[in-house]
Order: sequence, then structure tokens, then C-alpha cells
Amino acid sequence: MPNTFESESRKLLGRLRDTMADKAAGQERLDKITHLTADSMGTEVCSIYLFRDDETLELCATQGLNPESVHQTRMKLGEGLVGRVARTGKVINAADAPSAKGFRYMPETGEEIYSSFLGVPIQRLGEKLGVLVVQSKEAREFSADEIYALEVVAMVLAEMAELGAFVGEGAALQARHTQSVLIRGVTAQEGTAEGHIWLHEPRVVVTNLVGDDPAKEHARLTEAVENLRVSVDQLMAVASGDTEQVQVLEAYRMFANSKGWLRRMEENIDRGLSAEAAVEKEQSDVRARMLQATDAYLRERLHDLDDLSNRLLRILTGQGTQTGAELPENPILVARNIGPGELLEYGRQLRGIILEEGSVGSHAAIVARALAIPLVIGAKRIQNEALNGDHVMVDGDQGIVHLRPDDTVVNAFRDKMAMQAKAQERYASIRDKSAVTLCGKTIRLDMNAGLMADLPSLESSGAEGVGLFRTELQFLVRSQMPKRTELAALYSRVLDAAQGKRVVFRTLDIGSDKVLPYMQAQDEPNPALGWRAIRVGLDKPGVMRMQLQALLRAANGRPLSIMFPFVAQYEEYTAARAEVNKAIARETKLGHALPEKLEIGAMLETPSLAFACKKFYEEVEFLSIGGNDLKQFFFAADRENERVRRRYDTLNVSFLSFIEDIIARCKATNTRLSFCGEDAGRPVEALCLAAIGLHSLSMRPASVGPVKHLLRRCNLDDVRKVIHDAQDAGEQSVRPAVMEYLRGLS
Ligand code: PEP
Ligand code: MG
Repeated sequence: MPNTFESESRKLLGRLRDTMADKAAGQERLDKITHLTADSMGTEVCSIYLFRDDETLELCATQGLNPESVHQTRMKLGEGLVGRVARTGKVINAADAPSAKGFRYMPETGEEIYSSFLGVPIQRLGEKLGVLVVQSKEAREFSADEIYALEVVAMVLAEMAELGAFVGEGAALQARHTQSVLIRGVTAQEGTAEGHIWLHEPRVVVTNLVGDDPAKEHARLTEAVENLRVSVDQLMAVASGDTEQVQVLEAYRMFANSKGWLRRMEENIDRGLSAEAAVEKEQSDVRARMLQATDAYLRERLHDLDDLSNRLLRILTGQGTQTGAELPENPILVARNIGPGELLEYGRQLRGIILEEGSVGSHAAIVARALAIPLVIGAKRIQNEALNGDHVMVDGDQGIVHLRPDDTVVNAFRDKMAMQAKAQERYASIRDKSAVTLCGKTIRLDMNAGLMADLPSLESSGAEGVGLFRTELQFLVRSQMPKRTELAALYSRVLDAAQGKRVVFRTLDIGSDKVLPYMQAQDEPNPALGWRAIRVGLDKPGVMRMQLQALLRAANGRPLSIMFPFVAQYEEYTAARAEVNKAIARETKLGHALPEKLEIGAMLETPSLAFACKKFYEEVEFLSIGGNDLKQFFFAADRENERVRRRYDTLNVSFLSFIEDIIARCKATNTRLSFCGEDAGRPVEALCLAAIGLHSLSMRPASVGPVKHLLRRCNLDDVRKVIHDAQDAGEQSVRPAVMEYLRGLS
């Protein structure tokens, strides 16, 4: 009978709350809970197993099993029924446990006399803490109501654990969020940083778990959901025009109005939970489903639902963004994911960024790179593990996060940072010197940029100019298409900041991985080979014309360099050039000043352009090899795909021969050539490119120092010989031979 069940459930919750309020030690509380639960559920046994490390569970309290086995009985994740509940996060309900799949007999516990087994995971918002089990002699399956009751006890246990209610002796009862943790993620921006955690989404802790007056809790939930709906509608009104955001908000609205969602939370209240605990229980279930969802779309929707529950929890608890907390000293931002605009708002005050998700090519990663802030992505569990203010060390070079590091790690990490600082000093000392090699060749080193935030690096890095200004970044960090006047003002500020140094503006390179939130996304089977960059510019010339006009106006008589991305054939270059001519004619007609010098170049990013006719090479004023794209097409290996993106070495003899061929063509036609892919910023790669004749390289600002330092120590004639000898010897990559040469340098 549901009513009897509900009142039983509420009674049990009330008794659990009293246990929590008792001034007892952690162990005593656990013991009481097992006693209360067994009593309330009418079972002979109730046991609590908690994790003592990521892989091992320990029996921490029991009513009914041999008390001697407490803190002695341990099992690995996946081992026995308890281990299986922990691994899968799913309930096991077995009438005849000894014959159930995976049963493992633990003789020291004396459990052989118990037939039925019900185990539920103890987890908090997807984080696994242990397993709660009841057993009885009678061979019977537990009812849905009983399962629910045990799940609620498990949830209360998880919340109490979060609040430190079970701290005691031994690893399994250690206080939470105090141990040091190492989390492995993926590098998205190199660099190291030490600081303190700042959670982008403040953590909501539910202290009031039990609702004495269900009517009151229902009213609180109804009011909060109503507030939530209103706030989603308000966000919707503001977001109109931002298709991506509107889509997310539509999903929010759908969930906020979903009867099933509300009903599940209301049922939780009926069974004795407070409104906030009811929301959190539902959220925990969503997180558990999220962990198991393999379909990307479903996972995204579950994330939406999770975000929505967070908002609801903040409304109910009053804990939210206005926590009054201030950014700690040397803040290291932690978030599941973050948009480029939000990241720009934090700006340079951040020392490091750790994202639980994210991708190397994401807009947030682009911004982090522009701000030169170390960024680790894919740092699983960081949001669960970290608390605001925790000490943390971010190793962006290795993609590792040391949370609450111990002294050994702190010392080793600080040594590493000191060595890096020393190297920086070395680079600073040659900042104003040229990259002249021992054989007397001067290599031009420029930097890549894309945001105003990049420009201060022009001075500090020692770059000679901006070899690649990725104009799409300005489009990507906005929620609306920028206007011509805004762009003109921005480009003008870029030229002002460059103080006469050459800036090569690349026209909008969108499509493929760079999708503008406010432009209709194209559903293409293979976007990297699809409608992107100059293809979009020529097919829909409106934006390109607007951008060319903005550039001419920004120059306002000053020299101007424009480069077209992803040109695959001569005719695309001539068509784009014709657009520039038209823009110039228009500006002349309007009486506006024209650039004192105008150069129009192209990016060589497709193998086809390397083999373009001689006329193209004669006509184009400069070429820049976009090595990131060129390499992916040369090897047919997607630059975004972790499985293959590092499979082929840039120093592979075929790729170097191909580049040498391009260099030879440019020499024959006297065409200015540079290289602006990521490889230009890797010292060994840069050295090899310089040795085979690429004497102009553009790279991220932080790479200028290390590349210059290495070039100044090398003789390019010697390196060229090493490369050619390795090629002649039939090596696959010249890297081992070049590394050998470098080891021989004094
Ligand atoms: C390249 O492809 O090498 C390049 C510089 O362009 P992007 O990385 O912006 O595609
Ligand atoms: Mg490219």
C-alpha cells in the first residue's frame, strides 16, 4: 500500500536526519544507519560498503554480518555482487543471491545463510561513493517500493558523506575532498600554472534533505519550477537570433514543462524528501543515465536536463552565482565546458583552465590560446573532486592536473616551473635579436593572432609582425554577425597596435570545424572537405565584400596585406582578387583613402594548389603554407581526429619533399613564401623547414622565443645535409637523424 509505504519512508528519513544531527563519530553514525535501515526494511542484514580507493570497496558498517569483518572485508570494483553494483551503478535485486551471476562468497562475513540480496549504488551526482546492501534469509525479490526506499537511504548517505558526516579512521572513512588527486586530460594549450580552484558553476550542497511537511515542499517545488520557466522564457527572448542558444533553451523549455520530470520529483517529496533533495535525486538519476548514454545527441539532451536541475537547485537553495565569493589568488577556472565569450570575460586574470569536456579545436580553446592560458580539456571528474579555493597545479604540457598536490609533487612541479621561467629569461634576452643561424641566414619569425588580446604579444614575443591574423575568431566569439563599421574599427585598432609592423589579414575562414553560431549550419558528411573558407566567400560574396570594405577602410591609407584561405585552384584566386578590385573601385568612387601598398596572397592548404600553373605563382603576391590543413590532406588524416592526427610525422620524408617542391616552384617564380601552421612553432620542425628553404615562419607568440633560440644555435647547411642523407638512406622520418644532430650541439 503506497500510503503505508510513504509514511514508513518518511519515518525512516526522519530517523536518519536525527542520526545526522547527533554529535556522534563517523563510524557510530554508519552503524546506526545500518541498524535503522535493517529495522525499517525488515531485513536481517544491512551493510555499507565505501570506496577506499578508486578500485577497492571496503565493508564499513553492518547490521547482521559478522562485526569482525568490518574494515577487513574488501572487494575490487566489479568483483562479486557488491562490486558489480559499484561498477555498473545499477541495482541488483536477487532472490537467490548465491546462484546469481557474479556472486562471490566472503566466508569471513557469515553471509552464506542469507538468500535474498538488494544492492543499490551510493552515488552523488554521478560520482560513485559505495554500495548499500540489505540481505535476508527468506528467498524473495524486493518490491519496487523497497528498492526506492533503499535508494533514498543511499542518497541521504551520499549527501551526508559530502557534508563530512562519516569521517573516521582508515582510507574508506577519510574526509572527502582532502586527498590529492591526479587527473589526466588532454593538452589544449601548453604551459604550467599553480593556483587555486574557481568553480565556474558553484557547487550546490543540499543540507536540508528531509521534508516534514510534504504540502509545503510541494508548494516550494511548484513555485521554483514556475520561476525556472519564467527565467527560461526571459533567456529565450534575449537569445533570439542565436540559433544554437535558442536550440538549447528550447530543450530547457521542453524539459521544464515536462510532466514526467515534475512527477518524478513530486513522488520523491511524497516519500519524505525536501524539495531540493527531490530535485537532486532526480538529477542523480539523470547523471547516471548520462554516464551510460553512448549516443551523442542523447548525452547532450541529458546535459541540458542536468543544467536545468542545477538552475532549479539554485533557485531552491538560494546558492548560486551570487555567492559573494571572490576569485581566489591565481585563479584556475574549472568548468564542464565554457563559451568563448564567458572566457573572454574572465580574461587574463585566470592562470589556468581545466575543462571536464571541451575539444582542441573548440572556440574556448582558441580564446585560451590567444590569452596564452594553459588549458587542459577532458579532465574527467574534476568538477566532482574540486572545491572552490583548492590548491591545484596545471600541467598544460602533459595534459595533467594535480589537485591538492602533496609536497613531493609541489616541489617537482615548482622545479619544472622554475626551469621554464629560466628558459623564458633566455628567450627574453634574445627577444630583440634576429633569428640568424650559424651559417648566417636570417629567418623571419612572425606570430599568429586573431583577437585584440593577442596584440600585446607582438611586443613581448619578439615577433616581427603578424603572419596570420585569423579574422574568423572575431566572428566566432560573438553571438551576432559583426557589422562593417565594427569590423573596420577593430581592424584599425589591430593596425594601430602593430605600429607599422606587417599584419596579414586572412579573410573569413569558416566551415569545417569553425561554425558560426548565427549562420545556418550545413549538414555535410565531410565538413573538412566541404563548403568552407573561400568556397563560402565566393558562393555567398556578401560577407566577403563587407569584410574587404572593412579592411580597406581600416587601413585608411596604410599598407594592407590580405590573404585568402583554402584556395584550391588558380581561378578561385582570380575570382577573389576580382572582388578586391571591385571593393577598391567602390572605395575610390566614395573618395576614401586607398592603402599606400596592397598585397594579396593565398594560403596553400590543399595539395592541388601546389601544382597550380606557373601563371598562378607569378601572379600571386605571396603564399603561406597552412600546414595544419595541408598535412591533413596530404596524409588523408583528419587533424581533429585523435586516432589519426598524430599518426604521421611532419618530418616524414614525403611531406618534406613535397614542401621542398613548393619552395622550388616559388623560387623559380620569385614568389614570397611562408609557413603558418602549428608546426612552424615547434622548434625542431621549424629548424627543418628553415633548412629546406622556408625562411619565413609564423607561429603562436609563445613559440617565437624557443624557435629563435634553436635557430641561432644551428647551421642550416649541416641540418639540410642531415635531412637529405636520411632521405637518401630511405628513412621514413628525418626526425631521429635531426635529433641525433641536435644532441651533438654543445
Ligand atoms: C592551417 O591550416 O595551417 C592554418 C594556419 O589555418 P587554420 O589552422 O586556421 O585552419
Ligand atoms: Mg587552415
